[in-house]
Amino acid sequence: MNIHEYQAKEILKNFGLPVLQGKSYSKNLDTLHADIEDLNGPPWVVKSQIHAGGRGAGHFKNSFNDKGGVQVVFEKKDVPSIAQLMMGNVLVTKQTGEAGKIVNHIFIEEGCDIDREFYLSLLVDRNSSKIMMMISSAGGMDIEEVAVTNPEQIINIHFTTYKDVSLDESLLTKLDITKNQLDDLTSIINKLLNTFTSIDASTIEINPLVLNKQGGFVVLDAKISLDDNALFRHPELLELKDLTEEDPLELQAAEHDMNYVKLDGSIGCMVNGAGLAMATMDIIKQFGEEPANFLDLGGTANKDRVIMGFKIIQSDPNVKSILINIFGGIIHCDMIANGIVEAVKELDFKLPLVVRFQGTNSSEGRDVINNSDLRLISIDDFTEAAKKVVDLAKG
Ligand code: GDP
Ligand code: MN
Repeated sequence: MNIHEYQAKEILKNFGLPVLQGKSYSKNLDTLHADIEDLNGPPWVVKSQIHAGGRGAGHFKNSFNDKGGVQVVFEKKDVPSIAQLMMGNVLVTKQTGEAGKIVNHIFIEEGCDIDREFYLSLLVDRNSSKIMMMISSAGGMDIEEVAVTNPEQIINIHFTTYKDVSLDESLLTKLDITKNQLDDLTSIINKLLNTFTSIDASTIEINPLVLNKQGGFVVLDAKISLDDNALFRHPELLELKDLTEEDPLELQAAEHDMNYVKLDGSIGCMVNGAGLAMATMDIIKQFGEEPANFLDLGGTANKDRVIMGFKIIQSDPNVKSILINIFGGIIHCDMIANGIVEAVKELDFKLPLVVRFQGTNSSEGRDVINNSDLRLISIDDFTEAAKKVVDLAKG
């Protein structure tokens, strides 16, 4: 689960990290005129809150000035009007894709005199099962780009303990900072590690961490991703979820205990079991098409779930054909087949459908499919089924 910058900064502030004063707004900006008197400036920074990076270099669909989703404002009277223009507007960044994202929250922060910008993040390194820190003096910009063009500028450090860590003095020259600043950085890292482990984060990314003109570190941008599997331990963090940022279809699927992930391709997949879902997506790619989704009906798939699955896949306009790939174990293929027939009738489903059954009651299931007077295609062989569904999507 991702949270907004203003929420991340609230958490970081509580763990003692140096963040600037700011105020957040959801939809309603009425109190901003009064609030601004409490925020030091000029300048003030008006920041669009969306779950995507690159806001500063982004642009608004209904462009009201040539600046992006993060604007440094020097006139106090301009702050509310710029915030008003951002709110509800669609921000397009490198990470949102062309469709962009609606700005439903605005964060207003006091400005900061930036001397230098660093990149700093903590994440779980799966290879070593350790928390890893990435730090670079090439901050502020796209770190993916730095990783490609100047990988030597990114320093990776694996921690073996997450308390009272110290940083190697080689960072003095690598980051070109003073001994005092290295001490400050060490304190920041320890606080961040404490935050990371306390909230069960999967990533904390600070880009930029700046050195201001007075030589002190300030967290200027913050992105936190939380480990979904640990959220049950943090009901107060679960409340930070912004449903307007979640894919509505994924939310609907989650309500029915199904695992749905929307993808960009044209072939809808309805499968039981994550491994079979992976294999199904792989074989579709192998025949030159892309899956439109990952939908795992789960081990206890039943007719209602099949209907729900159809509804979800149907509401994706990119889907051209569907492959239903079921391995009958505890669930019976004929039961799923009846669910498919009913769902197709009930929803007046028009897209071409290929069904593959293996396992418990697969031949009974096949009979149900073949005896229906619907345009359903039953194919037993995995490869043949995949080829067929790819042809149908193309044709
Ligand atoms: P992002 O583009 O989504 O990563 O948003 P950021 O919060 O990182 O802001 C983008 C850039 O705006 C930063 O890298 C800074 O250069 C600039 N910026 C943000 N806050 C301030 C500020 O208080 N003062 C100044 N001068 N620049 C700022
Ligand atoms: Mn940033």
